[in-house]
Amino acid sequence: MADELGEKCGVFGIYGHPEAAKLTYLGLYALQHRGQESSGIVSSDGTMLHAEVGMGLVADVFHERRLARLPGEMAIGHNRYSTTGSSLLRNAQPMVISYSGGSLALAHNGNLVNAAEIRRTLEQEGAIFRSTTDTEVIVHLIARSAETHLADRVVDALRRVRGAYSLLLMTEKQMIGVRDSFGFRPLVLGRLEEQTYLLASETCALDLIGAEYIREVAPGEMVVIGEQGVEFFRPFPPTRHAFCIFEFIYFARPDSIVFEKNVYPIRKALGKQLAREAPVEADVVIPVPDSGLPAALGYAEEAGIPFEMGLIRNHYVGRTFIEPQQAIRHFGVKVKLNPVKHFLEGKRVVVVDDSIVRGTTGQKIVVMLKQAGAKEVHVRISSPPSIGPCFYGIDTPSKRELIAANQSLEEIRAFLGADSLGYLSLKGLLQAVSAEGHEFCTACFTGDYPEPPSSQELLQLELF
Ligand code: AMP
Repeated sequence: MADELGEKCGVFGIYGHPEAAKLTYLGLYALQHRGQESSGIVSSDGTMLHAEVGMGLVADVFHERRLARLPGEMAIGHNRYSTTGSSLLRNAQPMVISYSGGSLALAHNGNLVNAAEIRRTLEQEGAIFRSTTDTEVIVHLIARSAETHLADRVVDALRRVRGAYSLLLMTEKQMIGVRDSFGFRPLVLGRLEEQTYLLASETCALDLIGAEYIREVAPGEMVVIGEQGVEFFRPFPPTRHAFCIFEFIYFARPDSIVFEKNVYPIRKALGKQLAREAPVEADVVIPVPDSGLPAALGYAEEAGIPFEMGLIRNHYVGRTFIEPQQAIRHFGVKVKLNPVKHFLEGKRVVVVDDSIVRGTTGQKIVVMLKQAGAKEVHVRISSPPSIGPCFYGIDTPSKRELIAANQSLEEIRAFLGADSLGYLSLKGLLQAVSAEGHEFCTACFTGDYPEPPSSQELLQLELF
């Protein structure tokens, strides 16, 4: 069953470097925030592919000996995290297959919205799937294509799928990077010295290895890197763009450039806009670290209220989301954050975070701040209320679980136990991103899905 909703992932690829696997390891390290469930690297020595894939963080999966088993001058890597069930090794990527055309490795960031439909058709025709990921659907379509050249086969396959993909593919001799026409998920192109090309989800992966950022792979563009050099194609019909606005709000690392914009100043601008839209008399502004940090700085600066790190994060604990059970999640917040009483006692506190999903974190934090002596706690959120699940690769839960999809502002405030609650408006968000509304996907805030999922998909995901 194709039950994966949202493969929020990081991808990295390098062509033409004697230490390809090691640099991929470093690239994945920089992209760890995009996925913590599994990590994998596939390298090519020019004649065959070598794969090492495992469950857990990059640093847990890879060590010297394992990296030594990945020879060659090209490699692709993947960090994976998915919401629903199936935390399985067989779903880990890159996926490697052998078919009539040879060997092929794939690393996918994004989520298809008609994979379940295609999968059902293929299964009825006798196809056997080994994973529950939508990426395998692409593999089958490539293997079945009547085209001769890999690039043509890939285009042929991708013309049949709908949804989000920033995809890396690799054979023994070639690497391909391709991005869907909406451009939902980011993908950047970089260079190290003259001959080494890189593809990565975010520029922070290029920075770590000292590579130069060339440009973003354009929506609908395909980059083919091989012995012939680098070639660029635009094989798909153009459509409106739908860059994921949540990359700016939460997902991308603040030191990255995604969608050709610096993330950090945008996050700060969200906080400033929030201060203008939802002001409050207060003594101190504190962030929920790390996600609320740049926005809280912006809020404090704009409001002229002192900024303090009123909550200290234990960095050795994974993100709350990693824990699937509600009961553990509550515990996770306490393990992760501790208040600094000195800055809170008797104070009117503004606490800034980037988003509220289920409300669990916010509720725990308000209790924590009040227990630490805060006189008032005002919650400010640097995005609009999250009312819809993401079908394109961010692991927001179903509508049922999204607190803002089911409760009014006042009800949410009461649930959190806050003295006041303010969200950023959609208009303010778009203004801060300095974006024309139509360039971005804002479906999680508006319910307006640029590429609606098939009914088969919705049924399997049991979303509504
Ligand atoms: P919740 O406790 O369910 O309301 O989750 C809110 C917290 O989760 C906030 O601190 C956000 O920074 C963070 N968050 C929002 N979206 C995601 C996501 N897709 N994956 C992981 N964490 C998220």
